[in-house]
Amino acid sequence: MAMNKPAGVWNYVRGFENLSLCDWPGRATCIIFLGGCNLHCPTCHNFELAWDMTSLPAIDPVHIKSYLRDRAGWLDGVTVTGGEPTTVASVGELLWELKKYNLPIKMDTNGMRPEVVQDLLHSKLVDTFAVDVKGPWAKYPSLTGHAVSEIAAQANMQRIFEMAKTTTDSFYFRCTQVPGLTEADLDVARGYLPQGYELTIQKFVPPRRKQEHAKPNHEERRPVGDVVI
Ligand code: SF4
Repeated sequence: MAMNKPAGVWNYVRGFENLSLCDWPGRATCIIFLGGCNLHCPTCHNFELAWDMTSLPAIDPVHIKSYLRDRAGWLDGVTVTGGEPTTVASVGELLWELKKYNLPIKMDTNGMRPEVVQDLLHSKLVDTFAVDVKGPWAKYPSLTGHAVSEIAAQANMQRIFEMAKTTTDSFYFRCTQVPGLTEADLDVARGYLPQGYELTIQKFVPPRRKQEHAKPNHEERRPVGDVVI
C-alpha cells in the first residue's frame, strides 16, 4: 500500500536501522537518519542523505513508532543522526515524540550549530551528543568542502567545548581519520578537547558511491576496535 508523504519533521527521516551494537559504545540502539547537512565533506558516507535527501524514500513513521513501542525493552537507546540533525528546524518535535519511549537519546553532530545543541541540551531532549572533531581548525575548509572557515569552525567548537565542561556526562568526541589527516593532526585535534575528555579515533571506510548502494549507514563511524586514544 502506498504511503502518504510523512508530515512535518518525519518527512526528514530517510533512513532507519533497527539495531546497532557499535554505534553507541556499550549499548544496543536503533538509528534514525535525518536528511540535510550544512557541510559538504568530500569523504561523506551519507552524501545522498546529506545533500539530496529526496533521492531516498521517506520512512513510514508508523513503522518506527511500532518498532519502538514493541522493542523499547530490548534497546538501550536511540541514535538520531544525519546528515546533520541540528539543521532540521523542527528536530525538537521528533525528539519529543521519541522521548515517549523512555529511551536515552544520542544525537550525532558536526558541532557547527552550537546554539541548537545548547537548546536541545537544556530542554533535555537529548541525553548525549557525539560530536565530530574533523581535525585541526586550519583543515576544516578542505575537510568540509569549504562549507566552513577555520575561524568559524573554531568558534563553534569552542562553544561546544564550553558546554562539555559544565555537563560532563553529555558529550563525547570523535574524529574519523580520513585521507589527509596525519597522526600529528590527530594530536592537534586531541589537544582541543576540554580536560578529562578523550578523542575516539574512527577508521575511515571509503564511501560507496554507486546509486544502487544508496542507503544511509553508519560505517563512517566504525570505531578502530575499541581503541580510544
Ligand atoms: S558533516 Fe557528516 S553528513 Fe555532513 S557532509 Fe560531513 S560527513 Fe556528510
